[in-house]
Amino acid sequence: MPNLLNDRPHHECGVFGIYGHPDAAALTALGLHALQHRGQEAAGIVTFDKKHFHAERRMGLVSDTFTKTSVLGRLKGHSAIGHVRYSTTGGTLLRNVQPLFADLALGGFAIAHNGNLTNALSVRLELVKEGAIFQSTSDTETILQLVAKSKKSFTIDRMIDALSQIEGAFALVALTNKELIGVRDPFGIRPLVLGELDGKYILCSETCALDIIGAKFLREIDNGEIVVINESGIESIKPFQKINPRPCIFEYIYFSRPDSYLGGLSIYECRKDFGKQLAIESPTDADYVIPVPDSGVPSAIGYAEHAKIPFELGIIRNHYVGRTFIEPQQSIRALSVKLKHNVNRALIDGKKIILIDDSIVRGTTSTKIIEMLRDAGAKEVHMRITSPPIKFPDFYGIDTPIQEQLLSANNTPDEICDFLKADSISFLSINGLYKAMGHPEGRDPKNPVFTDHCFTGDYPTKLSDNESNEEFSQLSLLSNLE
Ligand code: AMP
Repeated sequence: MPNLLNDRPHHECGVFGIYGHPDAAALTALGLHALQHRGQEAAGIVTFDKKHFHAERRMGLVSDTFTKTSVLGRLKGHSAIGHVRYSTTGGTLLRNVQPLFADLALGGFAIAHNGNLTNALSVRLELVKEGAIFQSTSDTETILQLVAKSKKSFTIDRMIDALSQIEGAFALVALTNKELIGVRDPFGIRPLVLGELDGKYILCSETCALDIIGAKFLREIDNGEIVVINESGIESIKPFQKINPRPCIFEYIYFSRPDSYLGGLSIYECRKDFGKQLAIESPTDADYVIPVPDSGVPSAIGYAEHAKIPFELGIIRNHYVGRTFIEPQQSIRALSVKLKHNVNRALIDGKKIILIDDSIVRGTTSTKIIEMLRDAGAKEVHMRITSPPIKFPDFYGIDTPIQEQLLSANNTPDEICDFLKADSISFLSINGLYKAMGHPEGRDPKNPVFTDHCFTGDYPTKLSDNESNEEFSQLSLLSNLE
């Protein structure tokens, strides 16, 4: 299989859209700021002022660009969509920054996408053979090209036409000269919620983006649902065959902000319950329960409460650096763990520690943190991970790497324990994970409620690009322009 599948940009992103509000651009900027944890590489906003579209797409954080009145002033109009982007591979190109925009037969069309398609390269190959000219290397452009090419008379039918040809994970917002459109893929893998402010509709990845602008949460977009918001109000369309939803379980474990709600559950409460469940499954004696901040904090509180062991901040986080994964190279990623975390020496010397993190991917973070704790004199370090071992790669946009790089895909827990130089290690069981999320029977293999492929290898969609024998690289599918 060509390496390209792993080299092209993958993205876990955040999307936001608002229709008919006089402060559309500023509200979108605020919404994107609340979604910044979903992507820190680049941000963009496209607005429509009933005549023209206006676009700003920049590398960097939302606050680097979208707080300036000069920028927001240019983004005229009552409707807007926005995107924060996260990419871990080489494709850090401005032309991949979303929302993408094109002038189509029916007028301007802007689109912002969270998730990864699993047949984007196969479809792209066909489109290129037919003469399509791709401007970016992002799979979102495949959707745009399919909409452009559709012969249907209305935009929404063109969208349905395009979406019926793609596989994978997609939570989309699109802006045309008439409407704001929101779409969630047939399994609802990535999140999308509907809110309301001053009687105007909002679509966004997480409820925390509604909170920041004082908007009211109305409901989640259903799996396989398309909503069309225009001057007449909102219409819901369900064009795909009805299937059971399978939202991504990793949103609960790591991605979403703890103050967001997803599937009717508080992310914070879920994480606390993961910690509690792990304390039930893997108790051990210690002086302190210490989280790897920030993502390990709620789980460590849950573990400590149940185990009746004091919770302490033994690792202090520097908040002026992004998430570890933001560094594409392994060497830099290893360094950035130290940039981000330091040990609280006063607490650690001579103590037995239970160290809580939400997941182990490559093992970089845990190795460094355990080394720091040992250097500070920790007597024992018992690693407790509040998710099961990640054994399978992700293809839906959360960017867990290829299988060879996944520590748990290639090592037993005992081997991992030796590798990390921990005194013991335990992972939350898959049934424990489900139990902590309100499914007392655990995971039903015939009808899993979540997309949990990272742990089980059970992928809900076809993985056409991955299974294809096409030599995508030889067909110059990805750009020669750097
Ligand atoms: P690693 O250092 O490669 O083992 O990654 C594990 C750390 O990264 C944990 O502290 C997690 O909180 C965090 N993490 C887990 N999954 C992801 C992801 N897909 N993207 C970014 N960070 C992640």
